[in-house]
Amino acid sequence: MTEKKDVVIIGAGAAGMMCAIRAAQRGRSVVLIDHAKSAGDKIRISGGGRCNFTNIHATAKNYLSDNPHFCKSALARFTPQDFIAMVNQYGIDWHEKTLGQLFCDNSAKDIINMLRTEMQQANVRLDLNTTVSDISKTTDGFAITTSYDKIEASSLVIATGGKSIPKMGATGFAYQVANQFGHSLIETRPGLVPLTLEPNLLEQLSPLSGIAVDAELRHGKTRFREALLFTHRGMSGPAILQISSYWREGDEVTLTVEPDFDFLALLKNARKMNGKQSAQTALAEKLPRRLAQFFTEKTQLNKPLADLSDKVLANLVAAIQDWHFKPAGSEGYRTAEVTLGGINTNELDSKTMESKKVQGLYFIGECVDVTGWLGGYNFQWAWASGHSAGQIA
Ligand code: FAD
Repeated sequence: MTEKKDVVIIGAGAAGMMCAIRAAQRGRSVVLIDHAKSAGDKIRISGGGRCNFTNIHATAKNYLSDNPHFCKSALARFTPQDFIAMVNQYGIDWHEKTLGQLFCDNSAKDIINMLRTEMQQANVRLDLNTTVSDISKTTDGFAITTSYDKIEASSLVIATGGKSIPKMGATGFAYQVANQFGHSLIETRPGLVPLTLEPNLLEQLSPLSGIAVDAELRHGKTRFREALLFTHRGMSGPAILQISSYWREGDEVTLTVEPDFDFLALLKNARKMNGKQSAQTALAEKLPRRLAQFFTEKTQLNKPLADLSDKVLANLVAAIQDWHFKPAGSEGYRTAEVTLGGINTNELDSKTMESKKVQGLYFIGECVDVTGWLGGYNFQWAWASGHSAGQIA
């Protein structure tokens, strides 16, 4: 039997749920389909279980896209303040951790429960454990065949996310649908992902695994100042995840450890006070000992300070604060928080997310070629694009 609905949304993540709420609140009959057994699985694990649900500073400049202007309209239609108002209405306690990043005090589940309650109140039908086997165009909409039934709807919203973390059910479904309906794709690649190192460098750095430092990472004109973590595979931590979205294979990045600290002054002063002291011991005043050892061994300068001229000390400081290296690669979609690239925004209406090629077809959330920085920007895009499509679908 074929059912008739106004809107079918595929993908019950952040974007799909927000879209379902908005469309159903307008009185549209909405079915939200997901192949997973629960809705919002990525919300649940996000932000270390506390969901960094938005960033109060979110603007278009925090997003990567082939068309950097595309996200402006949706971000203006549904702002971080709009989401905060919803969270406050549900009495969910939150705090700003750093750099405008808002987290739940208690648990990410609070956000999922809020969205599920909103969906129930608006009469959204949620079909979990449901796969979509076929989508076809009808004269006035779409026919969607699922593992349970066939639904006809005038609007079809694709909200199935990107390729990141396949273990959690991520698929390339949105890209297949885009392809089916003649949409082009911007090449996809893993973003917000740890970077790996050449075997030689990795071996030298392996004793540092687990050490975190304040760092600035640069790639061309892009720079991020946050924590960097040495790992047994390479480098991670917020500074690396941020720069990874800009980095391309073969590119060099520049690392400054402790950007505010004057290592030259430290070394000169230590030399004046005690020329017999080694460079490594002097550096260990500020750096973890293993890191001080790495830099002095790398430059072959673990000598008494009295033997080191100003010029040589400056070379040692350059190794710490102007370190150029080429990452070998990234950990890939297995650990990437997001997928860069996706549905070409030139073929979508920036106010509604509707396809310019097929009336009634919408793409929202991570599957679209809009990717945020680390820090709550990606959920803000999911809420905003879901809201925009839900107002019209
Ligand atoms: P998703 O949340 O990925 O939802 C897509 C849904 O579609 C899923 O429920 C999936 O099961 C379903 N689906 C996929 N394929 C099919 C199919 N073929 N048929 C049916 N259903 C399908 N961003 C932040 O802003 N703050 C954070 O704190 C944060 N932390 C993160 C932590 C981790 C570990 C990861 C991986 C990501 C994190 N992100 C964070 C990024 C954020 O989770 C995503 O940007 C966001 O979830 C994208 O929302 P979406 O609705 O577009 O896609």
